Amino acid sequence: MRIWDIPPEKMCRQHLLGEHRELHAMWSIITNNKKAYAHHPETLRWKGKLKALYLRHEALVEEMAKRGYKHHTPLDPALATGKAFQDEFVNTYEEQVRILKERGCDCKV
Ligand SMILES: [Zn+2]
Ligand SMILES: [Zn+2]
Repeated sequence: MRIWDIPPEKMCRQHLLGEHRELHAMWSIITNNKKAYAHHPETLRWKGKLKALYLRHEALVEEMAKRGYKHHTPLDPALATGKAFQDEFVNTYEEQVRILKERGCDCKV
């Protein structure tokens, strides 16, 4: 479970689509107060920041559209409350870049 802080245009297909899927799971966990993953560090850093999570989703969807992927699962903007920017990190931006480099995928980091 990870929402990256990497600009979507730098992400490979696998990581872009994978993050989009996990973002929907994260949104569901927080908006439905689900117990599963409720105390996961990644979940904790997004709690109270649904506006920021919403904006990250919009950025992912925009990049997906550029690459020709259709999107049929909009988030409810009425639920996009709280802080509009993310300032807590499980891994720093530099660590995230290193993690993606080590994957050996097509991410342009
Ligand atoms: Zn979506
Ligand atoms: Zn990648």
